[in-house]
This record gives sequence, structure tokens and C-alpha cells, in this order.
Amino acid sequence: MKRILIGLAVLAALVAGGLYVMRAQIATAVFRQAVAQGMARDTIAATPDGLSAAFCGTGSPLPDRQRAGPCLAVIAGHRLFLFDAGEGSAETLSLMGLSPARIEAVFLTHFHSDHIDGLGNLALQHWGQAANIEPLPLYGGEGVDRIAAGFNEAYALDSTYRVAHHGPAVMPPSGFGLVAHAFTIADAQESTVVLDNGGVRITAFRVDHGPVHPAFGYRIDYKGRSIVISGDTAPSPVVQRQATNADLLIHEGLSPELVGIMEQTARAQHRDNLAKIFHDIVNYHTAPERAAEIAQAAHVQALAFTHITPQVPFGALEGPFLGNAARRFHGPIYVSRDGDLISLPATGGMTRRNLL
Ligand SMILES: [Zn+2]
Ligand SMILES: [Zn+2]
Repeated sequence: MKRILIGLAVLAALVAGGLYVMRAQIATAVFRQAVAQGMARDTIAATPDGLSAAFCGTGSPLPDRQRAGPCLAVIAGHRLFLFDAGEGSAETLSLMGLSPARIEAVFLTHFHSDHIDGLGNLALQHWGQAANIEPLPLYGGEGVDRIAAGFNEAYALDSTYRVAHHGPAVMPPSGFGLVAHAFTIADAQESTVVLDNGGVRITAFRVDHGPVHPAFGYRIDYKGRSIVISGDTAPSPVVQRQATNADLLIHEGLSPELVGIMEQTARAQHRDNLAKIFHDIVNYHTAPERAAEIAQAAHVQALAFTHITPQVPFGALEGPFLGNAARRFHGPIYVSRDGDLISLPATGGMTRRNLL
């Protein structure tokens, strides 16, 4: 018995030693496998016909390694649309198996920096990953042309290097950058249809994020399924009206209690500027409990929070973030994480999984 044990120990040591000596080859083989799987991944093809919401950025302007800046992708059949493009959007999309080259158009809710600061890399990836010959369409309210022109100018030199280095067949100059499509909502209206073709209808509606004007939410309808995105807003009756009977309401959420802790801490450390900012942000965002009331009044099927403020780095903090939201909305409530995919198949039902 003792000899067998010694023999097994020697064998284990030899195997471990062999693995250690071979570690470079093993790591390269694992890498080769991961690259093949990553490049072959196509989340759109793997998603049932219907509407899906892919959370490519569930964070806010506060620094957060777990949550990229605001970004929501909507898959409608085989089409891909993006709503906002905060820092890290293109990277998170790629990690979710959603190529930025497939994006048909980006719709901005408003021009706060955290919603646009991933646009530069997003447009570059849209161009470079598939030799797109047309720039990435960027929809938004009045002022969106300045956003597109600014990013195009900032990336103009980079674009010349890319064309020179890879050649115009790989980087067609006509596909560089962003092209703006501005829309307005007439004073007497609260919404306007900004895209309606191939069975997909996207409606923009006015929300309450003053002093930020314009500020919009969006409703997406396809094959009888519907997703409503609040954008950044204080509690808004327009969101409630637009979300009426929607399948999924994706609402921003800011916990006044948790942000209050940050304000008090900043004040105690004599960081008055920071304390004032934490104080100010509460009144143009929505507490999760209020969003839950809106979801309940609108009779939506499910409520998913995004633009999570402040950071909610571990599951046990989701309860304090939500407060009494679960008492005010009787359907499922999700504190979304980057990589979440909520699918609404045309045939009915709802599924949720994480792609990261
Ligand atoms: Zn904002
Ligand atoms: Zn924001």
C-alpha cells in the first residue's frame, strides 16, 4: 500500500513537473482555442427572432471596473442598434460577441459626457472590423452634429495612419467616423418616430433631465415585443405613458441613500466640491423605488435597472440600492450587470443570461 502511494506521488510530481515545463505550449494552445471561439462567436445569430436588450455598459460617470459607461444594444431580428456609447462600449460589445461593425445606427439619449465618451473607439471599430464603406449613423437631438464633427476631427489624424498602413481596401476612407442625423420633437408633442422600416419602429420621447436639453428616452417595437429605455431622467410621467404595456422597461437608477453616504463622506473629508456634485445629481435622476412605481403604473412585464449610481460592486448591496422597489413593482426587477442579455422572442416569453 505504502509503495503504491509513493508511486502515485512520484507520478503526480512527474505530471506536475511536465505541465510546468510545457506551460508555455499549453498556454499558447489554450490561447489558440480561445481566439477561435471568440472570433467565431455571433450573439446575433444565436439569439431568437424577436427583441433583445444587451447591456454593454450599466455604469455611470463614477469610476467602476465592473461596469462600463452607459451603453445598451438592442437586437431586433438580425439588426443591431445602440443606445448611448459611454466609455468601454466597443470593448464590452466585442466581449459579448456583438461586433461594433454590425451596428446599424447609434441613438443618443443626451450629450452628457458619460453617454458619448466611447463614441470615438466605437466608430473606429465599426469602420475597421468589416471595411464598412459608410460612416456610423449617429442620431440625436439638436447639437448631435457637433458631437459627430468633434469626434471626427479628434480621430482625423488616426484615420490617415490606418488607411496608409492597412490600405484603402481594408480601411475604405469613405467609412471613417460618424455621420449625424439630428431630430427634434415638436413643442406640442412628447414623442417622434425616428426610425420605422423592416418592422422595427424606434420612437424618441422627451424626458426630464434639466438643465440638460435635449434629453430623450426611446421605445423600440418589433414583432409585437417592446423595450422602453428611460435615458437619464427624474421621475417622468412621459416615461410612464410611453412604457404602457411594454414588455421591458430599462430605467436608470440612483440610490439617494447610497449617494448620500458619498456626499457626507466627501463633506467630512473637506472635499466640498465633490460633496456639492453628489448633492446636485440626486434631483435629475430617479430613485429605484420611484422607477418601480412607474413600472407598476405602466403595467410593464419586467424592470431592469441600468446607469447604476453609485457603484454596486457586490450582490449584497443590491438590496440597499433597490430600497423598497420590490414592494412597489410586482414583476421581476433586475440590477443589470455588464454582459446581461434579456431576450423577448417573437413567440413570447422572456429569458435572461449573461454573456461575459
Ligand atoms: Zn445625464
Ligand atoms: Zn448619465
